This record gives sequence, structure tokens and C-alpha cells, in this order.
Amino acid sequence: MASKEVKVSGDKLHDVVIVGGGPAGLAAGIYAGRAGLDAVVLDGMGGGGQMNMIDRIENYPGVMDVESGAQLAEVMRKQMESFGLSVTFDQAESVEAKDDRVIIKGSEAHHTKAMLIATGSRHRPLGVPGEGKLMGRGVSVCATCDGPFFKGQPVAVVGGGDSALMESIYLSKVVKHVTIIHRRDSLRAEKYLQDLAFAADNIEFVWDAQVEEILGDQEVTGVKYKDKKSGESKAVEVPAVFVFVGLLPNTDFVKEAVDLDENGFVVTDARMRTSHPRIFAAGDVRVGSARQVGAAVGDGINAQVCIQEFLDTDTPPRDF
Ligand code: NAP
Repeated sequence: MASKEVKVSGDKLHDVVIVGGGPAGLAAGIYAGRAGLDAVVLDGMGGGGQMNMIDRIENYPGVMDVESGAQLAEVMRKQMESFGLSVTFDQAESVEAKDDRVIIKGSEAHHTKAMLIATGSRHRPLGVPGEGKLMGRGVSVCATCDGPFFKGQPVAVVGGGDSALMESIYLSKVVKHVTIIHRRDSLRAEKYLQDLAFAADNIEFVWDAQVEEILGDQEVTGVKYKDKKSGESKAVEVPAVFVFVGLLPNTDFVKEAVDLDENGFVVTDARMRTSHPRIFAAGDVRVGSARQVGAAVGDGINAQVCIQEFLDTDTPPRDF
């Protein structure tokens, strides 16, 4: 197959290219813009990342009056723009890491002295029959996006972590009834979310249940699961199934350039340095991230401070 022709964005060698416009990327962009660097923030979707899907944020320090994650993302993006940096629509597809520069290839080739990987993560699929075919036809990974379509109807949620519970709590206010199907008999989610879910009178749990299939032809009609205690197959009749069974890192495009762990997350040290001296990583995409908006912002700042030191000295940044 002939390789895709990629236009070079001028002959410019940027100071830093930040790939990903979620909280880690925007925080790094604010610092890079404020420092007057020649910086670029690339994002194939225009920025915000998973913040755009968060209905309610109540644990981001210092901010108590935003309505949603999307609104917080908008404030961050505007703050970055106030320092002269905007999000460039481009999806990074591969990376060539050389000694003197990194070349990031999307619809253009972006040459840079330093690169920050801030591409976050995406929802892991359940991997059962029906899920792919019915995605967008009742199968969803975003309650705030799709929940209102099922107003007055019952829905199912799969998973037992923070995402499953947070989204269920949102859904419980929009739909008639939420059945949470979880594969064990205890939850991984934080206690405050468990308390809220247990207190809601229209959230019900199905424990020790392994989902086998999402039912439906053109649209979802239900979920089939195996009761792990009895071994029986059972089904819940619902027009929508929201799947929240973990996250996968968006690292395919950098897998040849930096070390990843066995799950595909970027390996970094405490200063966000990767195995390549010109490449840094921040936020959900890196091993050990707390996967919170505030933690991603902290990572982005930490990485950009380290990148600044690298650009100033042209040597690999020091340990703390
Ligand atoms: P997670 O913490 O990895 O939880 C995934 C859940 O899905 C677990 O309960 C897991 O069951 C279940 N699961 C995994 N594979 C499954 C399968 N094949 N079939 C059925 N169930 C399956 O993922 P998450 O909830 O998306 O959270 C990801 C990260 O984001 C976490 O670090 C979380 O703390 C963070 N987060 C934080 C907030 C917040 O700030 N409040 C909100 C959302 C997410 P087991 O429990 O049996 O493993």
C-alpha cells in the first residue's frame, strides 16, 4: 500500500507540540502560551476530551459553579487562547522520534523540539455480541449525550467503577429506572458514589452477573447475562445499555516511539519524562495517572515545566 502523502506545516520547528486537548493538554497549553513558546495543541475533535462527557464536576478544586465538564473545558480553552494559543484540528496518526526533533504526522507533519502526549483514554468495549452492531442504536458510552433519548424508559448500565456509578446517578434523574449489571458482588467505585447510588430509589443492582450479549436487531431490546451463582442465563428488557467497563489509552500512534506498559499506557517518571528524551506524557494516557480532571491538569503543568527546562538547557531535564 502506498504511504499517505503528508504535507509539512511550513519548515517550522516548533518548541512544543501538545497532542490532545483534554485537561492535561489544555493545562500544558496555558503554561506554554504564557511562557511565549512556539507551541501547537493538536486535537482531532477540537479539544475538551472526556471532560465533554461529564455531567457534573464537584471535585475540581477551586471551582464550584460550573454546570458540567464541557463548561469547565470551555473555560480552560478560553484561558489558553488568552495566552495566544488555540487548538489546531488535526489527528496525530504516527510519530517519528529523532535525536534532534520529533515529527508528528496527521493531515500535516508537525516538527517539534519537544512533544507532549496528552491523548487520554477511551471507553473499553465489553466485547460481547451485539455491542458493536448496536452502538449508537441503544448501546452508548455517554450518559449525558444519550440518556435524554430514553426519558421515561428503563435502561441498563454495565460496570461497577466510578464511571458506571457516576453515569447511573445522572441517568437516574433522566430515565425511569436504571439497572446496574456488575460482574461481582461489591463495587470498585468510590464510597460517596456508592452511597448516592444506593440512596436512589430507581437504581437497582444485579450482582454477580456476566453480560453475554446485547440483544436486538436494528435497536437494543435488552441485555442477556449469566447469573454466576446459579449458572442461569437471564435477560433485562431495556431499549438502552450504557457500557462503562474501564478505559483504554489512546497510544496507538506513539507505540513505536516510547515505551508503553502491558496495557498500552505510556511509561513516565515523576517528571512526566518518557523513554525518549524529547517526548513527555501527561494525564490519563500515562501509567499511574489518578484519572481525574484535577490530576490531569497537574500532570500537564508538571510536564510543561519539565519541557521548559529541557528547551532552556537543551539537555534532558534533571531529576527532582
Ligand atoms: P474502572 O475503575 O476500571 O472500572 C471498570 C469496571 O468495569 C469495574 O467495576 C470492572 O469490574 C468492570 N469490568 C471490567 N471489565 C469488565 C467486563 N469485561 N465485563 C463486565 N465488567 C467489567 O473504570 P472506570 O469506572 O471507567 O474508571 C476509570 C478511571 O477513571 C478510574 O481510575 C476512576 O477512578 C476514574 N474516574 C473517576 C471519576 C471521578 O472522579 N469521580 C469518574 C469516572 C472515572 P471489577 O470491579 O470486577 O474489576
